[in-house]
Amino acid sequence: MLSVILPAYNEEKMIAKAAGTIEQILTDEGIDHEIVFVNDGSKDGTWAEIEHAAASNPSVTGVNFSRNFGKESAMLAGLAAACGDCCAVMDCDLQHPPETLVKMYRLWEQGYEVIEGVKRTRGKESVMHRASAGLFYKIISKAVKIDMSRASDFKLLDRRAVDALLALPERNTFFRALSSWIGFRTASVEFDVQERTEGESKWSTWSLVQYAVKNIVSFSTVPMQFVTVAGMLVFLLAVVLGIQTLIRYFSGHAIAGFTTVILLILIIGSVIMISLGIIGYYIAKIYEEVKGRPRYLISKKIGRGCRDSAEK
Ligand code: UDP
Ligand code: MG
Repeated sequence: MLSVILPAYNEEKMIAKAAGTIEQILTDEGIDHEIVFVNDGSKDGTWAEIEHAAASNPSVTGVNFSRNFGKESAMLAGLAAACGDCCAVMDCDLQHPPETLVKMYRLWEQGYEVIEGVKRTRGKESVMHRASAGLFYKIISKAVKIDMSRASDFKLLDRRAVDALLALPERNTFFRALSSWIGFRTASVEFDVQERTEGESKWSTWSLVQYAVKNIVSFSTVPMQFVTVAGMLVFLLAVVLGIQTLIRYFSGHAIAGFTTVILLILIIGSVIMISLGIIGYYIAKIYEEVKGRPRYLISKKIGRGCRDSAEK
């Protein structure tokens, strides 16, 4: 059985449409399936829509978060609730075309365990958004050592890959990169990002910046090395300035030294501050991990549970 996981945040207009479209395509293809919606603490009628869809279609199930925990948590909650032999994750705004899902499933049937959706085109975006996304993916690709520039959250994972992901103890997950990191037999399918038909993107510029920083830090310690390198450069500069100041002092032109002192204080001061900032960020991360908070809290679940579908 294929489980399709759809994280939803303020998507009331898309639930029925997504469930209908996916149901139709998978039924036509004769693929046994369930559709798992995860309501990520929406403020609109998304949960009511999910309950409605579950009532009219037995293959729809739902998980309701107690508040907004973010798409990463929603995807993981969906994977944990899914009963399928393979699980696909896609956006419920249908920007990930459901037809591609069928292609992914066929690859899974051929024995692939991780099937990545790769963006052929990125769809409509502003120039700023495209440029900053480009920079983010350059850095993250270096950190993960895999080309991430066209990666998406649209994936199909075998049960074994899902279990491996769920068994990871870390709380700051980056699904897009982790699915490559876990390994397994991998294939990829290209798709064109569709335009959003209803509602709007849930990402503000600020939340994208936060997303980028969080994921770069959780996958890489390179920023810390930048500080070390900068520190060494500044130290070299200090040595040169120091020698110059000494020469001036001995040749009787000491007054010029004031500028040097101020410069040195400024440079060293700022480097120390930047390093402390970055170290602080890592300490904050360690703190988060050590607390061992649950990744999400579920307030309710509806629909067919794993036990009923065991006969299938
Ligand atoms: N989403 C979510 N929680 C959030 C933000 C988004 O579950 O906090 C879901 C959203 O409902 C959608 C998917 O993540 O199904 C992608 O979001 P969106 O379409 O806003 O992102 P974009 O396509 O613009 O990258
Ligand atoms: Mg979208």
